[in-house]
Amino acid sequence: MPKGHIFVLSAPSGAGKTTLYKGIIKEIPKLKYSISHTTRPKRAGETNGRDYFFASVEKFKKLIKKKEFIEWAKVHDNYYGTSHSFIQKTINSGFDVVLDIDVQGALQMKKAYPGAVLIFIMAPSFKELKKRLVLRKKDSREVIKRRLCNAKKEVRYIKKYDYLIINDKVSQALRDLYSIITSRHLKVSGSVIKRFD
Ligand code: 5GP
Repeated sequence: MPKGHIFVLSAPSGAGKTTLYKGIIKEIPKLKYSISHTTRPKRAGETNGRDYFFASVEKFKKLIKKKEFIEWAKVHDNYYGTSHSFIQKTINSGFDVVLDIDVQGALQMKKAYPGAVLIFIMAPSFKELKKRLVLRKKDSREVIKRRLCNAKKEVRYIKKYDYLIINDKVSQALRDLYSIITSRHLKVSGSVIKRFD
């Protein structure tokens, strides 16, 4: 019986997911971030093995064949995948793990691990999401339009998630995430019942 829990975060681009997972990792010592494999080119400031394991399409396809991924998906024309062995090792050694993956991956994770907690993060409104994407000055107008269009598709999956965090103020959203993670440990389960038999 694994001792750690799996938390999956998904959000449209601009909802603040990266800030939240980086913040929560600092607050909860027994929580590790799952580093995905990807075929997308490395961005400035990213490090192989810290942000992602960067791989060629050929290597990625080999890893799929070797069943190295619990889930994988094509997102914005690039492949992304979650390492099976890393997740297993982490939860078996008593650590929780947090994944930052898209909606397709989240649903595959739930199938593989029904106990995984799916958390959707959203900005307070589409208007606010657009404002954030414009203000961060990272994307062209065309890309922002595409990201907003994707966001409208992604929110349709909220009902498949266990929790929704509205990221209005980061401090409150972090508290919400903290509560979800800590309450997962208080849930009555088979191992807890056995202890009092
Ligand atoms: P980015 O390239 O901007 O880092 O990530 C693009 C999208 O890919 C984000 O929605 C992110 O959550 C998703 N993603 C990152 N890693 C994985 C993964 O291992 N599996 C899946 N399904 N999606 C991922």
